[in-house]
Amino acid sequence: MADIKRCNFCGKPETRVENLFSAGDNHICDECVMFCYDILAKQNKGAKAPAKVKEIKKAKESGIKLVKPTEIKKVLDEYVIGQDEAKIALSVAVYNHYKRILSNEEGNEDDVEIQKSNVLLLGPTGTGKTLLAQTMARLLNVPFAIADATTLTEAGYVGDDVENVLTRLIQAADFDVEAAERGIIYIDEIDKISRKSENTSITRDVSGEGVQQALLKIVEGTVSNVPPQGGRKHPQQQFIQIDTKNILFICGGAFDGLEAVIKKRTDSSSLGFGGNIKDKKNDNDVFKKVVPHDLVKFGIVPELVGRLPVITVLEELDEPALCRILAEPKNSLIKQYTKLFKMDGIEFNVTDDAMTAIAKKTIEQKTGARGLRAIVEGILTKIMFEAPADKTIVSITITEDCVNGDAEPEIVRGKRKSA
Ligand code: ADP
Repeated sequence: MADIKRCNFCGKPETRVENLFSAGDNHICDECVMFCYDILAKQNKGAKAPAKVKEIKKAKESGIKLVKPTEIKKVLDEYVIGQDEAKIALSVAVYNHYKRILSNEEGNEDDVEIQKSNVLLLGPTGTGKTLLAQTMARLLNVPFAIADATTLTEAGYVGDDVENVLTRLIQAADFDVEAAERGIIYIDEIDKISRKSENTSITRDVSGEGVQQALLKIVEGTVSNVPPQGGRKHPQQQFIQIDTKNILFICGGAFDGLEAVIKKRTDSSSLGFGGNIKDKKNDNDVFKKVVPHDLVKFGIVPELVGRLPVITVLEELDEPALCRILAEPKNSLIKQYTKLFKMDGIEFNVTDDAMTAIAKKTIEQKTGARGLRAIVEGILTKIMFEAPADKTIVSITITEDCVNGDAEPEIVRGKRKSA
């Protein structure tokens, strides 16, 4: 195998740097050249280090990994199938967000203030909204917390105070508040706290607007006092102070009923002579025409809509996409079960027809990719119970009949290699 060239100064391999300059067997990367330049610039007072040097230095000091949007998308592709539009929008938003943090920490020399690029993911349940946010946080190595908007309440009502979301983020950062202040919070089911939501609860404020206002405060940036262990605030408790101005908020929701709001707006514009003939498109295409005002009509307060400038739509997952989800992602279901069976020395297979049948069944259940696991689990529970004790089983195959409930998984018996 050919030797990988490394920077003689910092040791980074050439694959992890933009440029590696070589002189015979000696190499130096662009980052180290920049550092040297910075030292020289300091010695030679008055000379200014280029912006790139500062950016790299800041990124190193703050622990922020500035990953380019194309690289972010590449990693997302390993875990999330399809949803290209959402991946691109998220990658750009996250990249700009961390650039914004670096530029603010550096001092704003030119008075151009970059605003936060919080993201709103619209799409049916089980299409990968949470998975996208989770994968993003793992990739960037920043603290990440998930909150369900339906459990949040305005202070004083039964339920979770909105600030408890921040407690969760601090806990995810192992109480490193500085790291938490640059983390990502994913708020699921944001549509359920709309003013007109039918899902109102008498234990929460009746309209949902109070929660939206409380949420708005932390989304736009505030210094919040949060109880370290969550729960309700009480006077004897020590609080942790956290500034939310650099926390990235990703909100997600299915927004059932939004398509009617969008259709109403777009259809009225096609009335009259010369108007477009109504196109019979499915809901997903309708969703793609969403504008912020539709969200206001749906019942999200305008201020909160204004704080979520990046709106992107996730596609409904079709049969081929669900088949790919079963097999392709790095930790796909099939890969997970293959590993589990392999630990007992058993080979595990799923035929192509079986995969299609599983995908079809999932679509019927309308649970998105979330339903895949329950179906596969249902097929395999019995055999997973029996197989470890039955040393004669060498391979298990799921067939189409087996998915449709007409047969048991196919079993080949013989002498097992090793457990
Ligand atoms: P939601 O859109 O409701 O937030 P999730 O992201 O929680 O959905 O998805 C539920 C599960 O379904 C995930 O844990 C993942 O295993 C699977 N999943 C959903 N969408 C995708 C996708 N596009 N690619 C790969 N897996 C997916």
